[in-house]
Amino acid sequence: MTPSARVLGWHYLAAAALTAQCAAVTARTGAGWHAIGLFVTSLLLVVAYAREHATARDRRAAAVKAERIARLSTPRSRAEDQAAIALAAACCERWWTSAGIEHDAACTRKGQTA
Ligand SMILES: [Zn+2]
Repeated sequence: MTPSARVLGWHYLAAAALTAQCAAVTARTGAGWHAIGLFVTSLLLVVAYAREHATARDRRAAAVKAERIARLSTPRSRAEDQAAIALAAACCERWWTSAGIEHDAACTRKGQTA
């Protein structure tokens, strides 16, 4: 929730409390419909606060999801692909330094690759 949304939420709650108080005072004067109207208005302000909170949560979740998708969809360059293939095919150190011609004596892939 952004700071401005948080301040707006606190104002919603304060307005709801004030309107509920006005409904109670109005009910004591005998103006029943006005009291009901003020009470419903108070409830709507609480709903507005809850909605503001839910919207902030949804926005945060959408931002996290968009960031995750952006990270996963970053294309690798051709050089990165070639490096990954070369590293995956790498065998022993001697194979690496001899450009794939020789293997270490203890290499398990000796005879399998060039
Ligand atoms: Zn090897």
